[in-house]
Amino acid sequence: MAKIFCVANQKGGVGKTTTTVNLAAGLASVGQRVLMVDLDPQGNATMGSGIDKRQLTLSVYDVLLDSASIAEARVRSNWGDEGARAKAPTYDVLGANRDLAGAEVELVGLDNRENRLKQALAVVAHDYDFVLVDCPPSLSMLTLNGLCSAHGVIVPMQCEYFALEGLTDLVNTIKQVHANLNRELKIIGLLRVMFDPRITLQQQVSDQLKDHFGDKVFNAVIPRNVRLAEAPSFGLPGVVFDPSAKGSQAFVDFAQEMVQRVQTL
Ligand code: ATP
Ligand code: MG
Repeated sequence: MAKIFCVANQKGGVGKTTTTVNLAAGLASVGQRVLMVDLDPQGNATMGSGIDKRQLTLSVYDVLLDSASIAEARVRSNWGDEGARAKAPTYDVLGANRDLAGAEVELVGLDNRENRLKQALAVVAHDYDFVLVDCPPSLSMLTLNGLCSAHGVIVPMQCEYFALEGLTDLVNTIKQVHANLNRELKIIGLLRVMFDPRITLQQQVSDQLKDHFGDKVFNAVIPRNVRLAEAPSFGLPGVVFDPSAKGSQAFVDFAQEMVQRVQTL
């Protein structure tokens, strides 16, 4: 049975999508069966998995509105035909594009609107070890669908001055969802991303995080690494684009940490 994790942080540009696609590729590289769900109308996780969002015939939009099953709408990540990259392990993708922006409004008035994704995932849960959901930068009905379907939340964050403040809103939302909608939901961990150890402030915030959240802070730390930023323009996760890059290796370490963590859940 799959363990389902949302990658969420309502702050924009903190590294959610980078975390989702690289964790998906990292988990696949250590032999896990993975479904990645793109819940963001920007479709960045879809594009970053080698799938053209404009060419999707079915997407997560159709699944949320009950006009397709995940089995019908999922596609396989695509690393292209040539070279060693083509041989890297792949994962399944439930893609997203602009259509999804309309779902927010269309879901209003439908029964059980926050549980649409959960119900659809239940049917395919046996096909996977991990389901990773890339959330948009908001606490919207889409994110709520992610949170209601998940066993836990992975929160990528940059170690900056306002990072802890932003976390309060997310932690409160997760508490509310836990209390009212999904008793299973918990924060699995905080992932320090785009980390630069030479910057004293980042070290200080990192220490504060550990004081505050203890072992909820993942051991893996993702460094700021240009290869991770270049990879999406090739439609690849960094882990596939350049497996030897420091950032890619950090994501494979993180994947291994996640495999160990799920055994203790
Ligand atoms: P949004 O809120 O818009 O969905 P996001 O939280 O998904 O954004 P990303 O798209 O993953 O954030 O990352 C934002 C930008 O930072 C991207 O250009 C990405 O390539 C870059 N980036 C992410 N992680 C790293 C890293 N570790 N090193 C260098 N660049 C990074
Ligand atoms: Mg994103």
